[in-house]
Amino acid sequence: MSEAKSGLTNQQSADVKGVNFLDLSAQHAPLRAELDRIWDNVATNSLFVGGTLVSDFEAAWAAYSETEYCIGLANGTDSLELTLAELSVGPGDEVIVPTNTFVATPEAVVAVGATPVFVDVDPDTLLVTAETIEAGLTEKTKAVMVVHLYGAIPTMAPIVELCEKNNLHLIEDAAQAHGARHGGLHPGAFGVAASFSFYPGKNLGAFGDAGAVSTNDKDLAERIRIRANHGRGDHLHHIVSGCNSRLDAFQAAVLQLKLAHLDGWNERRRQVHGQYMELFQGHELVKTLSVPENTEAVHHLEVIRVPDRDAMRTQLAKHNIGTGLHYSHPCHEQPAFSQYARSALPVAEQACAHQLSLPMHPMMSRAEVEYVVHHVVENLEAN
Ligand SMILES: *Cc1c(COP(=O)(O)O)cnc(C)c1O
Repeated sequence: MSEAKSGLTNQQSADVKGVNFLDLSAQHAPLRAELDRIWDNVATNSLFVGGTLVSDFEAAWAAYSETEYCIGLANGTDSLELTLAELSVGPGDEVIVPTNTFVATPEAVVAVGATPVFVDVDPDTLLVTAETIEAGLTEKTKAVMVVHLYGAIPTMAPIVELCEKNNLHLIEDAAQAHGARHGGLHPGAFGVAASFSFYPGKNLGAFGDAGAVSTNDKDLAERIRIRANHGRGDHLHHIVSGCNSRLDAFQAAVLQLKLAHLDGWNERRRQVHGQYMELFQGHELVKTLSVPENTEAVHHLEVIRVPDRDAMRTQLAKHNIGTGLHYSHPCHEQPAFSQYARSALPVAEQACAHQLSLPMHPMMSRAEVEYVVHHVVENLEAN
């Protein structure tokens, strides 16, 4: 491989000896003093669950999301499940979900007693489209869960139209899309609600598990809030049999601190993604993802497809390059969900066999991107 073709500059890459898949320590290091103050405040004032740290973050996340309401919850899976439950989706109902997603999406459907119906994805974006969703429609369809996978929002107008026409609840799984926009709008603007996870590795991550629902539906927001707090209507009255899915005050304060950095971190992810795109140009054996028109993605993951994914992964590991698989198997081929498989979903099946997630985080330097690309290309050209 010629230097000119790859655009690599060995002088810059020479010092890099490996690249982490994620680097939360580097991301948190500059915030350390402020994080310590949060911990001190929580411990000194016994602020554990609920309270103003939680309500302040909820208000901040609602404002950021440009939705009326935000309910902080224990994790992202609960936020999907509670949304479905409070929309009265349950036994006998079908919910359409992409098969190329994290298992949490169909888990929430099964948890409320409904049936997940898996659909395929677009070959260029690996996201659902109105056409792939339509293929899963039946008389029993009650809701559609769109997943803003990898930090990208699918083309929403035809999906919104399809759901309106068929009277279906549209729910956005935005666990990988904090800060993404489509047509200028954030998750939560398209469906009845957007569900977020603040698992540490997400674009906005807590110091443990956390999640939230963003919505403009007042009734839904109230119902989820009550259900998640043991069905408590007011201090003394439990009006439904609920559950415990509350957001910890410490997590809320960490999220509030990190929220101020989210746009800057997402901008860095866009730069890192741009560098990958530039350096992979001309290498036909590397298939990169397309982002739908009018979507401003936040690149939660940097996914490529290569002929021999497993060999590539092993090879990159030898050069201390961390990689991930999102996902190694489509949900309908996982033992837990294969009973719901209705047909082959060839695009996702093919993608899962070839996709590999490269290091992607806001602290990555150009030299690190060059190091990763150099070893990906070297491996392809050796085979
Ligand atoms: C992380 C994730 C979830 C679940 O979030 P948890 O907070 O881990 O429960 C749901 N959907 C997608 C697409 C995710 O990536």
